[in-house]
Amino acid sequence: MKKSAALFAITILALAAQAQNFTLPRLAYDYKALEPHIDAQTMEIHHSKHHQAYVTNLNKAVAGTKFEGQSLEDHLLGISRRSDAIRNNAGGHYNHSLFWEILTPKKNTKLSAELENEINATFTSVDSLKKLLNQAASTRFGSGWAWLIVTPDRKLQVCSTGNQDNPLMDINPDRGIPIIGIDVWEHAYYLKYQNKRGDYLTAIWNVVNWDEVSEKYAEALKSPLLKYMELDTWKVLKEFHKVLAETYHPAEEGNLDPIKTRSSELMMNALNMKTSTIPKSIDTPELRKHIEALVKESNALHKLVKKKMKDAVIKAKLFEVHEIFHKIQEECK
Ligand code: MN
Repeated sequence: MKKSAALFAITILALAAQAQNFTLPRLAYDYKALEPHIDAQTMEIHHSKHHQAYVTNLNKAVAGTKFEGQSLEDHLLGISRRSDAIRNNAGGHYNHSLFWEILTPKKNTKLSAELENEINATFTSVDSLKKLLNQAASTRFGSGWAWLIVTPDRKLQVCSTGNQDNPLMDINPDRGIPIIGIDVWEHAYYLKYQNKRGDYLTAIWNVVNWDEVSEKYAEALKSPLLKYMELDTWKVLKEFHKVLAETYHPAEEGNLDPIKTRSSELMMNALNMKTSTIPKSIDTPELRKHIEALVKESNALHKLVKKKMKDAVIKAKLFEVHEIFHKIQEECK
């Protein structure tokens, strides 16, 4: 009885551990299926050894940290606050999972009308998109990836990253959801193409799965991650919030020294918000009205501080600024 209870506990623990673990995805085709464009040996080593190593090392890197159990997207979106080991291996796991999905031995896959129109509008033709992607891939020095991404303002963009970084990461200047990723690490092509990265890049278009890329495009347009990334890049909101938090909370406890020394900084940050480029998806007359009010009242607060008004007066104005900031945050949801 005791023994079976212990076994039961071990099973539950094992299941719990497993639920948090990342696993190597299966390929939808055989290792040899992409020949002659990508050879079987490269595929087998790339998937079963390289990708597996990213998965194994990612599980190790998150084990026992406060990040354990979080989704792959959560790691990538907040990668600036995580270790290099998580950065390299979460990137490696995400990038390769995408890579396998957008490849196929099928010959008759095709672009959706929506994606084809958008490609034509942005890059003039599918051929010039391929050229741009190959250019991004061939000029990436050393190891990395070339990407076609959907940006937070729902446009298509070509970019590249080094190592296993990708455009979901908050450290990357180009942000967006990848719908094509081309691996330009030597391990992706060296056995067959040796130093001829260009030949590999020409060949790979024979095995791109346009059905899948089209589906990823439609999914990306619906994804809440776009808005998340858009707001994440609106730094002035965070900067204002930081100063407000560091002055408002002490004031709540009766300490007005922080706001008395930082009222001009708060006012400048409100002004920065007004002159910044407001993310399109939240740029409404209502929001602009709140930002106007924030500038006006932060300015008034600064004047009260300069005039050395009574604490109660300064505190009341600071609380008013705080109220307005909350309305702005509401508009951002
Ligand atoms: Mn690779």
